[in-house]
Amino acid sequence: MPVLSEDILAPALKRLERRSAFSDVDRSVFLSLPFFVKTMSPSNYIIREQDLTKNCCVLLSGFAFRSKVVGNGGRQILGSLEFAVSVLGVPLIVVMGHEGCGAVSAAMSVVNKGARFPGNIGKMVEPIIPAVLEAARLGDATLEGAVRQNVAHAVRELREDSAPTLIDAQASGRLLVVGAYYALGTGEVDFFDTGADSSAFKTS
Ligand SMILES: [Zn+2]
Repeated sequence: MPVLSEDILAPALKRLERRSAFSDVDRSVFLSLPFFVKTMSPSNYIIREQDLTKNCCVLLSGFAFRSKVVGNGGRQILGSLEFAVSVLGVPLIVVMGHEGCGAVSAAMSVVNKGARFPGNIGKMVEPIIPAVLEAARLGDATLEGAVRQNVAHAVRELREDSAPTLIDAQASGRLLVVGAYYALGTGEVDFFDTGADSSAFKTS
């Protein structure tokens, strides 16, 4: 059954009109917009890094979270995580590294070959360098070793050095932070760090 403009755009317009005034022209332009409907399952990206944004996405129901790498190389993601945990009661944060990670491999070339990256690329790569050094120190100087160390660093930060919202939620068993490695080739995900004290986590 085809999805009609009245089914999708009209209710969306109604919601938007609660926030701001629309003229008759605005209304008819909005209702004649081309559209398609996409149902997203949890954990999927609406837009990913380097995607060309060809569409305007309007979220009609559910929640979406935004994360991005900011100018100083930090990931502007903690605010979203804190909101997810404290307001929405999200019980699990998975930090997932992946096979063939370009950012970690760039950090390796900084350490091993003295490579330099300009501007924001350099700033993005910089925070990963300690993970590369740590992997080498532990005797696994491979890309996978560095990716896993990078995950371990992020997990440690979320467990020990993040906002009280996240720390308290973990202490009271409302939140679990785990680390995983995603092998793109096989599709396998290795949850290699499920938390030494995950017994505090309550599933009910
Ligand atoms: Zn990556």
